[in-house]
Amino acid sequence: MSPIAPPRGTRDLLPDEAPAWQWLHGLHATVASRFGYQLIDTPVFESTELFARGVGGGTDIVDKEMYTFVDRGDRSLTLRPEGTAPVVRAVLGAHLEQRSRPVRVHYAMPMFRYDRPQAGRHRQFAQVGVECIGERDPCYDAEVIEVAWRFITDLRIEGLDLQINTLGDREDRLRYREALVAYYTPLRDSLCDDCRRRLDVNPLRLLDCKRDAAHVASAPRIGDHLGADSRTYFASVLEHLDAAGIQYTLNARLVRGLDYYAHTAFEFWHSSLEGAQNALGGGGRYDGLAEELGFAPAPGVGYALGVERLLRVATDQGVAPGPQPPAQVVICTTGDGSGTDARDLARRLRHRTSVITDLTTRKLDRKLRDASRLGARLVLLIGLDEGLVLRNLDTREQRVVTTESAPDAVSEALLAAAQEPAG
Ligand code: AMP
Repeated sequence: MSPIAPPRGTRDLLPDEAPAWQWLHGLHATVASRFGYQLIDTPVFESTELFARGVGGGTDIVDKEMYTFVDRGDRSLTLRPEGTAPVVRAVLGAHLEQRSRPVRVHYAMPMFRYDRPQAGRHRQFAQVGVECIGERDPCYDAEVIEVAWRFITDLRIEGLDLQINTLGDREDRLRYREALVAYYTPLRDSLCDDCRRRLDVNPLRLLDCKRDAAHVASAPRIGDHLGADSRTYFASVLEHLDAAGIQYTLNARLVRGLDYYAHTAFEFWHSSLEGAQNALGGGGRYDGLAEELGFAPAPGVGYALGVERLLRVATDQGVAPGPQPPAQVVICTTGDGSGTDARDLARRLRHRTSVITDLTTRKLDRKLRDASRLGARLVLLIGLDEGLVLRNLDTREQRVVTTESAPDAVSEALLAAAQEPAG
C-alpha cells in the first residue's frame, strides 16, 4: 500500500517554514491594526450563492474554479475562493456599518480554487487582506493601498511595482463595454475559446487574456470613456498616493472584470514572479457588491495579497526568517537525576525561554547529541556528581550552577550565544 499523499495542489506548512509564515502574518496584522483595521474571520465554506452573486458569472473563479458540494441537508456550499464577498456579508450582516463608518477590517484566511497547480498557483492558498466598508471617498482607496504598501515595505521586499488604473463608474463601463464589443466582434474567429466566451458574458475580462495579447494591445482604453466625475475621483486617489510618497505605474489595461467593481483597481507586481503569476496581489473599489448580496448600498475598497507568493519572494531575497530550533534549552536527567527536579526547573525557565526536558534513561552522550541535533544552545544536566551543570552546546564550555542561579545563568548564556552565531 503506498503512503497517502496530500491532495493535488495543496501544501503542508512544515515547522521549518513556520517562523517565516508567522512573521508574515504577524507583520500584516500589526501594520493593518496600526491603520485601525481589526481582525475578522469568516467560515471556510459559504452558500454557493454568495460567490455566484458576489464574484459573478463570466469570471474564472465562478465558472471554473469553485470547490462546490452539496451537504447532507441538500444545500449547495462552496469552499471560500476569495475574501471580499464573505467579509462584506459578515460586516453588513452584523450591521457593523451602523456603529461607525467606514468599517475597517483585516483578515488572513485560506482560499480554495480549482486551478491548474504550478509554481505560485495552488488549490489551497492563503491571502492576507483588508476591507474598508461603508464610505466612498478617494482617501480610502489610497488608504488601503498605503496599508498594503507599508506591509510589503516592512517585509523588506524590494522590486515592488504598484500598477493602478480606474474602471470609472457604471455608466463609463457601459460605454467602454460597448466599445470593447465593437472592437472584438469582428475579431471573434481569431479569439481563443475563453475570449469568445468572455465576449458574450464579460467583455472587460477580454483584457486579462495573455494568449490574445496582440488584440489587447490595440483594444480601446477605459481612460477614453471616463466621465468628468470619474476623472476627478482618480486624480484625487493619485494625489493621496503622491502625498503618502507611494510610487505607482498607470496601467490602462488593468481591469477587474466584475460588474460591481468601480473606480480604483490596482495590483502589486514583482519582477521575480514570472508570467501570469507575477502579481503578489491586488484590489480595488467595489461599490455595487453590497446590493448584489441583498444588503443596502455600502461602498467598499480592499486588497488581497497571496501569502505563498509573498513568502517566495521574501525567501528568495533572504529577508524571511529561516528555520528555528524547537527549544533553546534541553534539561537532561542523568545518573540519579530526578525527573521532578527537572520538571520544576523547566517550569521556572519557561518564563524566559523555550525548554524541552529529556527524562529518558538513555546514555548522556546520546542525550547531548540529540540536544545538539535539534538545535538547542544550552543543556542543563541534572544528577551529575558535581551538581547541576550548564553546558553550552556551541562552545562546549560548562559550569556548575545552583537551582537558584540557573535561570539567570541561562539568560546570560543565551544572550551571549545570540551575539555570536551558532557554530
Ligand atoms: P485574486 O483574488 O485572484 O486577485 O488573487 C490575489 C492574489 O492571491 C494573487 O495575486 C496571488 O498572490 C494569490 N493567489 C490567487 N490565486 C492563487 C493560487 N491559485 N495559488 C496561490 N496564490 C494565489
